[in-house]
Amino acid sequence: ATPTAVMVGTGVGASQGVLIKGGQALESAQKVNCIVFDKTGTLTVGKPVVVSTKLLKSMVLRDFYELVAATEANSEHPLAKAIVEYAKKFREDEENPIWPEAQDFVSITGHGVKAIVRNKEIIVGNKSLMLDIKISVPLDAEEMLTETEAMAQTGILVSIDGELTGVLAISDPLKPGAYEAISILKSMDVKSIMVTGDNWGTARSIANEVGIETVIAEAKPDEKAEKASGYTVAMVGDGINDSPALVAADVGMAIGAGTDIAIEAADIVLMKSNLEDVITAIDLSRKTFSRIR
Ligand code: ADP
Ligand code: MG
Repeated sequence: ATPTAVMVGTGVGASQGVLIKGGQALESAQKVNCIVFDKTGTLTVGKPVVVSTKLLKSMVLRDFYELVAATEANSEHPLAKAIVEYAKKFREDEENPIWPEAQDFVSITGHGVKAIVRNKEIIVGNKSLMLDIKISVPLDAEEMLTETEAMAQTGILVSIDGELTGVLAISDPLKPGAYEAISILKSMDVKSIMVTGDNWGTARSIANEVGIETVIAEAKPDEKAEKASGYTVAMVGDGINDSPALVAADVGMAIGAGTDIAIEAADIVLMKSNLEDVITAIDLSRKTFSRIR
């Protein structure tokens, strides 16, 4: 392709909300035959909401959520925001709630959070976090987790003073058009993989809904960066924890609504935050670099 063709290509991209940072990025996109998608905020809308709560101990829901929200108010995680948002509904000061003070707040990346609130030790996170710190997960909690995961929701456990007290189910639906985008990629002979820090059960359910067969769940950020060998790989992500993978991939594509760090790390930015534009980018590259016969 001539420099002019590359300029035209990036210009057309920009006019369609696909920001291509230079000729190299545009050229690499045509060779992509495998795409690794982050789950939360990339395949899903990324605005999770609490859809149900199960208490395993006798406790007033308002008091339970006050302790949980006081802890999660210190976390930037989308799940934390969903929990705090939901907890507001139980309060009189709903508009501007003042949560009790949380001391010794700790965030355990990819697992959850803990803090001391009203002299109680509150731990909020996934099952592996509870097992790591030797909090036993009773059978009814296990059962609720399994049901939650089968419905493509994320189950979050709450422990108060070392006792498992509640299970929250959190839903984050697929983006409109996600299924269609994955099936078009299939028809273009591009393999799709989903990678997430979320648990295997939820990950598999979401992958089934969107039509992705290959799943990597319970992944740490550095594991997200591991390359599928023998493929030219594009990574599509939105989070801070996706940025190492966006850099490591042959082509990094950031969701426009994502974090600044992901946008900086990427070669291509999908300003409309939809998945159809992954195809727009590949098409544009193929058209720019295919020889005119
Ligand atoms: P993702 O790939 O979806 O961004 P993360 O690595 O950020 O996943 O988190 C993985 C899992 O760790 C979440 O699905 C959740 O179970 C748990 N987790 C992380 N942060 C929190 C939090 N602040 N509160 C509760 N659970 C959390
Ligand atoms: Mg994400």
